[in-house]
Amino acid sequence: MKSANNTVKITIFILAAVCGTVLIASLGAGNMNSCAEYKKCEQEKTCCRAEDSAKYQKATFAAGCFWHIQATFDQIPGVVSTTVGYIGGNTKNPTYRDVCSKTTGHAEAVEVIFDPETVTYDRLLEVFWNIHDPTTPNRQGPDIGDQYRSAIFYYTPQQHQAAVAYKQKLENSGKFKGRIVTQIVPAPAFYKAEKYHQKYYQKKGVTCSLPAVVEDEKVSKTDEQWKQILTPQQYRIARKKGTEPAFSGKYYKHKEKGMYLCAACGEELFNSDTKFDSGTGWPSFWAPASKDSIKKEVDKSASMTRTEVLCSRCGAHLGHVFNDGPQPTGLRYCINSAVLDFTEEKKQ
Ligand SMILES: [Zn+2]
Repeated sequence: MKSANNTVKITIFILAAVCGTVLIASLGAGNMNSCAEYKKCEQEKTCCRAEDSAKYQKATFAAGCFWHIQATFDQIPGVVSTTVGYIGGNTKNPTYRDVCSKTTGHAEAVEVIFDPETVTYDRLLEVFWNIHDPTTPNRQGPDIGDQYRSAIFYYTPQQHQAAVAYKQKLENSGKFKGRIVTQIVPAPAFYKAEKYHQKYYQKKGVTCSLPAVVEDEKVSKTDEQWKQILTPQQYRIARKKGTEPAFSGKYYKHKEKGMYLCAACGEELFNSDTKFDSGTGWPSFWAPASKDSIKKEVDKSASMTRTEVLCSRCGAHLGHVFNDGPQPTGLRYCINSAVLDFTEEKKQ
């Protein structure tokens, strides 16, 4: 008994020490800059490894009313977290009231923490330039004032170069009639906005008056087009909500390290780190690769109420999710092999 107790204590001690070290390591890496972000990462990206946290990068954009900008970046796969705040002014710790008084020089901005392996900085620039009018100085739609200016606050020489190059490309393309007035400046201190501004769109269900015009990354095809791309079995499962026979698929016993992708569109769906042997005969995972990888819908077919799992990008039916999985989530994503592709872990 005594030795068992000691084992438990030692295990708990080791776990605590490892988690503490991971937290300190990730915070020390400079990219993840708050406990809240780390916790969010832990919950939503299901990571508990220093290298996961340290690999994230930061980008900050000002493009008018920050509610709208945050709502948009939160939809982009690879964005780990967003925070709205104030940047680029001449006072410390400004309040919303201060910024609205138009005397402090701060811009409303959103700080984006992203995983560069999933989303590139160029893609974030593309989103940024698609969701506002960069030709109107200190104005976005009905919002007027220097706090609504168009600006990119860069953190590295690489971000600076990328932003300048992208702006030039846009100028050359003639996409905008007027001159692009977006400022590209080094990032000074970012001051987090008041709590009630964070994720405002989730609380109020509204964003600012500007329409979101993010280029749709979704994949949409006709049945005929899907038939051209998919095998008959893939088509039956992905597009007609079929199921492959248990123990028949190529991935139910598969144990390689890497990423499972949507066979229809290539979206990253499940990391092998979350795969477990459920004994059901279908590949089983306890979490998706990211919260944006999949969507869930209620499925009342076959005289049951189940939760269907679909690819968020192309809408392919993947399988179902059940509440009898292992920790840490307690979920079991039961997925058809036929709608998955696999790519081995990249060698570092
Ligand atoms: Zn897909």
